[in-house]
Amino acid sequence: MRKFTLVNRGDENSQRICSEIKDKLIRAGFVMDQENPELIVYVGGDGTLLHAMHEWVDDLDHVYFTGIHTGTLGFSTDYTADEIDVFIEDISTKKAVIEEKRILQANCVNDTKELTIHALNEIRVENIVKTQEMDVYINDSYFETFRGNGMCISGQYGSTAYNRSIGGAVIYPGLDLLQMTEISGIHHRHARSLGAPLILNPDAKITFNHDDFAHALLCFDHLHIHLDGYHQIEVSSYSKTMKFAHFNKKTHLERLNALF
Ligand code: NAP
Ligand code: MN
Repeated sequence: MRKFTLVNRGDENSQRICSEIKDKLIRAGFVMDQENPELIVYVGGDGTLLHAMHEWVDDLDHVYFTGIHTGTLGFSTDYTADEIDVFIEDISTKKAVIEEKRILQANCVNDTKELTIHALNEIRVENIVKTQEMDVYINDSYFETFRGNGMCISGQYGSTAYNRSIGGAVIYPGLDLLQMTEISGIHHRHARSLGAPLILNPDAKITFNHDDFAHALLCFDHLHIHLDGYHQIEVSSYSKTMKFAHFNKKTHLERLNALF
């Protein structure tokens, strides 16, 4: 893992730390390679990782990610900005422990075209303008008709992000699964859906069907598209996983404790 590139949050502090890391890595014998890197060092926080993941989404099978924290939360990062020398020492002398994270995929279909997007944290169908009705299918079998603001699908990694804000379960690493969580579901005599987060196999396919997704958005990580004109959104797992390279041993409990 000698070839690296860097992605930073864009603020002055992250840019300064980014160039310090770059100089120190080159001095330690690493090679900057922006075309074909093996290691993506992200300097910022979890939002920076999302940007980096989307930039390298086609190359996920042969790149590894490691993060330095300069942002507000930095849940996924292994080092803080004042641990750069420890980071350089660790990366030069230690063998990385690789941790894979599932990437989600959504296929959106309308009468004339299909669009495929990917996400690390979550994929949401969300409509804050009007009640969104949609039929939910699991592995092509009808499950329920949902009415409300929308649905959020996440994997283990994204369980601590948006999913946690809407009452979804926080999932420990090592449990590879999908979670479907309602966003403001309507539950009364005439309209009823499960009303609880649903945990699914990682190879499950979840389909949302409706003839009208007007004003709804498909939100995926920090990105979104407008769903006007679409009638089907099919969510499943991407064939490639995202790989963290850990050079120190930060436990998940340490990360969770720092989260709230
Ligand atoms: P953002 O400011 O980049 O992210 C919002 C906050 O969520 C930041 O503090 C970020 O940490 C943290 N975060 C991101 N991924 C996380 C994860 N897997 N576990 C724990 N915390 C995480 O906002 P954005 O650019 O609009 O959206 C990016 C992501 O933010 C989305 O994928 C969504 O999950 C999350 N988000 C959550 C809510 C909510 O909970 N109500 C609302 C909007 C977006 P850093 O400060 O380190 O970047
Ligand atoms: Mn952020």
